[in-house]
Amino acid sequence: MNTSTIFAFLLSLFLGFSFSQFHMFASGPKILIVTAHPDDETAFAATIYKVTHDLNGLADILLVTNGEGGYKYSTLAEDIYGRELTDEQSGRKALPTIRKKELMAGGEYIGLRDYFFMDQQDTGYTLDADSVLNIVWDTSIVIRKIKELHGRNNYDYVFTLLPVSGTHGHHKAASILALRAVKSIASEVRPIIVGCSVTDSTKLIPDPFLGLPGFPETAMNTQLAIGSFNRLTPFGFQQKLNYQIVVNWLIAEHKSQGAMQLAMGKGQLEQFWDYAINGNAGKEKILKLAELLRNAPLKKYQQNK
Ligand SMILES: [Zn+2]
Repeated sequence: MNTSTIFAFLLSLFLGFSFSQFHMFASGPKILIVTAHPDDETAFAATIYKVTHDLNGLADILLVTNGEGGYKYSTLAEDIYGRELTDEQSGRKALPTIRKKELMAGGEYIGLRDYFFMDQQDTGYTLDADSVLNIVWDTSIVIRKIKELHGRNNYDYVFTLLPVSGTHGHHKAASILALRAVKSIASEVRPIIVGCSVTDSTKLIPDPFLGLPGFPETAMNTQLAIGSFNRLTPFGFQQKLNYQIVVNWLIAEHKSQGAMQLAMGKGQLEQFWDYAINGNAGKEKILKLAELLRNAPLKKYQQNK
């Protein structure tokens, strides 16, 4: 422990915070997550858990939409919340509040510090990023907020979903806005922006990605991920536990998203991709993060346990 970490520890005891929640003096990686929907953060949940619990880092999330478009999958949640959520009108009205609470409940598990809700309309499923970027969302508010947050917190990394062709248009659009915001920050103080995806280690031939056609800011430095964290890294008694458990806790909190529940136990590797706007700085810093994640043991199970 360095001096500031010890001070944070003592102050956290004094103020009654748990140490893992006390990020004011974070000395590890500082991450801003920029995603479209509540539940998109599940793609890198194990990484965020490690950063906030074992690397003395912090993670904030900026959520672009209000999540109202997910009402079609809310069947099982209707009894939980006592609302008719699958009806479009009442679902769109109730879901923004419900999904914020679900995100924050899940965020407790992975250690999210602050939440910034941009409340842009979640119109519903589309593959088209242009429709929300050009017509629906106030993109300038989102870009301004990302820059403001970086100015205040000096993040090391901005995490986004990899904007591949087959993903939701809102995922693409949120990542594009994060890229535009980072690109407009002076290069000396820019955070490294990371594209994130999840895959199984059994997938023999990885899908290459060099950028989304029509959006030059999404260009990548390399056509494959350059680092990853394995959710199945074992720890605990007889090495029977792994980080997939925490990911499943988070997924379980998103109860209004019925289909998301089926992602439990799926996806082993959280992958990190290097956007071209990082220039030469991205590779080293992303590899460094992957190394830290790989080498940091779970706090309670260091050494001989
Ligand atoms: Zn989504």
